[in-house]
Amino acid sequence: MPEPSTKAEYVVGVDLGGTKILAGLFDGWLECIGTAKVSTKSQRGVESVVERIDRCVRDAVDEADLTMKQVAGVGIGAPGAVDFEAGNVIFAPNLDGWKDVPLKKELEKHLGLPVFVENDANIAVLGVHVAELKSKPRNVVGIFVGTGIGGGLIVNGELYSGFNHTAGEIGHMVIDVNGPKCGCGNKGCFEAVASRTAIFQRIKAGIKDGEKTLLTEMLGDGLEDLRSGDLRKAIRRGDKFIGKVVEQTAEYIGIGVANLVNILGPEVVVLGGGVMEALADEMTSVIIKTAKDHAMPGTIKGVEIIASKLGDNAGITGAAVLARRETK
Ligand SMILES: [Zn+2]
Repeated sequence: MPEPSTKAEYVVGVDLGGTKILAGLFDGWLECIGTAKVSTKSQRGVESVVERIDRCVRDAVDEADLTMKQVAGVGIGAPGAVDFEAGNVIFAPNLDGWKDVPLKKELEKHLGLPVFVENDANIAVLGVHVAELKSKPRNVVGIFVGTGIGGGLIVNGELYSGFNHTAGEIGHMVIDVNGPKCGCGNKGCFEAVASRTAIFQRIKAGIKDGEKTLLTEMLGDGLEDLRSGDLRKAIRRGDKFIGKVVEQTAEYIGIGVANLVNILGPEVVVLGGGVMEALADEMTSVIIKTAKDHAMPGTIKGVEIIASKLGDNAGITGAAVLARRETK
């Protein structure tokens, strides 16, 4: 745990996602003492999303029975390329119309507080690093598996964002050149074979080919409300097909880990995101074994590969860490 702040001040961490906005109020010991959640509704436009973030921050502060005057600053993780210095979101593919949005400036106008903006996966790995990794490793790779796959890199103890502020886009490293099409236009990207979206597509294709699964019994033939937790339930009830799909996905993630270990030589690889949160018990050992099978001899010796326990809170925790660091 970090040293408590002597100024007894609070900060708010915000996780801006494509479907929901999550805000958490954190005290000087980095304990979350109030949270709030609103839907993003990015189709209503940039200004509307900024207003919704504003409301979400105020709700989290109110939830903890505090006032805005007691808050030193707000950190926010945005889903896309972010220029941290300027506080601009350069491009966010999952937010309608978000191109060169001066989020820091706009939000500061609304909240009357200093605001700091970073990429969401960068911020999540920062949260895990500060709140969860006791050994304080100098080099960490964070892999967040959800609707897509995001990555965050800590190199020599610092967040690494690269030349165009886009480093860590590990979801788009190509794992299988003949693989399925990715949202970015390429084929066989990491997230096109190992994200929740990819898992669901493989399940639907399998059912079409006559595979039997308990999921159709649980959710109906369309599988409209399928969530990661349903996969875990099906596997625990002995669903062989879903077990196979999830195992194959874990193998793809293991190959991704091997590539990243070869390139970056981290001490720790942290796995997070909704899919890992639901399926860590089923996937982690397969990921480790596959990574060891595919990494260059010697590169992976002693490297820790672990599932984060912060779950959905990694984003708001990291955003709070950022706000505290910048307002000290
Ligand atoms: Zn891609």
